[in-house]
Amino acid sequence: MKERFVAESMVAGERCTMEGYIHEGEVCGHILSTGLREPDPFSLCRADDASALRQAVESRVLAIAGAVLAQIGLDNAAFSLEFFYNQRHNHISLLEIKPVISRAGSQRFEQSQGISQLGVLVDLALGRKPAVIAQRAKPSIAALAPNANDRAPEPAKRVEAEGSRCSLLISDELTDSRILVVDDQEHNLSILATMLRDAGFVHIDLARNSDELFKQLAQDKPDLILLDIRLPGRDGFQICEQLQASPDDAEIPVIFLTAMYKDAQSIGRAFAAGGVDFLTRPFLPEELIARVQTHLRLKHYWEYLKELTRIDPLTGLLNRRAMCEQLEAERSRALRTGSTYALLMGDIDHFKPVNDNNGHRCGDAVLSAVATLLKERVRRSEQVCRWGGEEFLLLLPDTDAAGAAVLADALRSAMAESAFACDDNRALHITLSFGIMADHGERTVDACISKADDALYAAKNAGRDCCMTHADAVGR
Ligand code: GH3
Ligand code: MG
Ligand code: MG
Repeated sequence: MKERFVAESMVAGERCTMEGYIHEGEVCGHILSTGLREPDPFSLCRADDASALRQAVESRVLAIAGAVLAQIGLDNAAFSLEFFYNQRHNHISLLEIKPVISRAGSQRFEQSQGISQLGVLVDLALGRKPAVIAQRAKPSIAALAPNANDRAPEPAKRVEAEGSRCSLLISDELTDSRILVVDDQEHNLSILATMLRDAGFVHIDLARNSDELFKQLAQDKPDLILLDIRLPGRDGFQICEQLQASPDDAEIPVIFLTAMYKDAQSIGRAFAAGGVDFLTRPFLPEELIARVQTHLRLKHYWEYLKELTRIDPLTGLLNRRAMCEQLEAERSRALRTGSTYALLMGDIDHFKPVNDNNGHRCGDAVLSAVATLLKERVRRSEQVCRWGGEEFLLLLPDTDAAGAAVLADALRSAMAESAFACDDNRALHITLSFGIMADHGERTVDACISKADDALYAAKNAGRDCCMTHADAVGR
């Protein structure tokens, strides 16, 4: 049977509260506090002498914990405390607390609970109002109140251990990753940012609600989001669903963090909303960092694989599959907006002899150089792909046949004027022929490509090193 208790004590003129339960001789609880006076938050941080600071914190922690425990009959409390003074962040943190409490025998704080209390204890010791207090109705019962029907009090939003430094350092290739932390509690934001920074991340953005989150997304897209569930306004589940619905954001991995939503339904909902992971508070920094690292790695692999399926390895241009997606999207846009798009089908003239006379390696180098030249001479909105062996297809949005013909001829003459160097530095001259097609989107993509191809063959038949426009092209 669990004996629930809420106890209050005055420590140095301040009311401190502890709540928890005793189960089979084990004391499980949190030390909370209310009614703290507002001390100068910098008074401790200004101290140059870390050991004086340490002693100040230590004596306050002991006073608070000891007095509160004495209230519930757990006198004779002894604690072993270990501190860490972080000069970089100019704060002192409690690394470890091992309370040994006796009441009719030897009892101890449950080890797993120990970690969760540290942040609160440090807050108390530094004279700050713990984040958990702000969320709670003020407890006022000063009594042991065993009640078999009572569940253990619902944990308030707990904080991670401020003093627990992360022993994990992320691998070098991940240091440039951008992490967005979303939590409405300043205290949690600061602790999570410190954990991430200690592990080696440098790009960390913070948001306190969905508005700040979406503003941040518009500025700098994160590689991963740590998302609290309980937030003012839209909660974490709703935010994650919204991210999933946006093609630009759907692939950002979201790790849920929560102290409250630990039930099976919430876990199911988090993953159904699109979360990739779910971490309940309290957690160790190592656990957080390991999960963040895993999901960043998975995201990198995923992007790499996606790139493999879309990019031609020799030229670095889009491949045929990726271009087909772009073409379908452009056709839909043209139908929707009434715009015209154009296709240029380019083919290197007499390329076979280039290979035959200079070898395939040289042929590959020429293909690569032609691709670079094409890519450099088109606008950002225009797409170039390697359609086949020595064929290139260009997609020009908002362009009719006349406009496309101007670009095609500029590309053609740039090719004819260029010299391509091979291994032995011999200069090679090549030419390209182009077929041009333009449409409003009424024709299928396949039909348009086929017409661009017909126009290309007409250019070849006309003697090569020239451009031909299909008779059906819009805006000739
Ligand atoms: P045309 O002017 O009629 O287009 O003549 P062509 O020689 O360019 O056309 P053909 O279709 O006869 O030959 C195309 C050549 O392109 C043959 C093939 O070996 C070469 N080729 C295709 N892909 C590659 C590649 O990846 N690397 C190299 N080096 N050559 C390639
Ligand atoms: Mg050719
Ligand atoms: Mg060809």
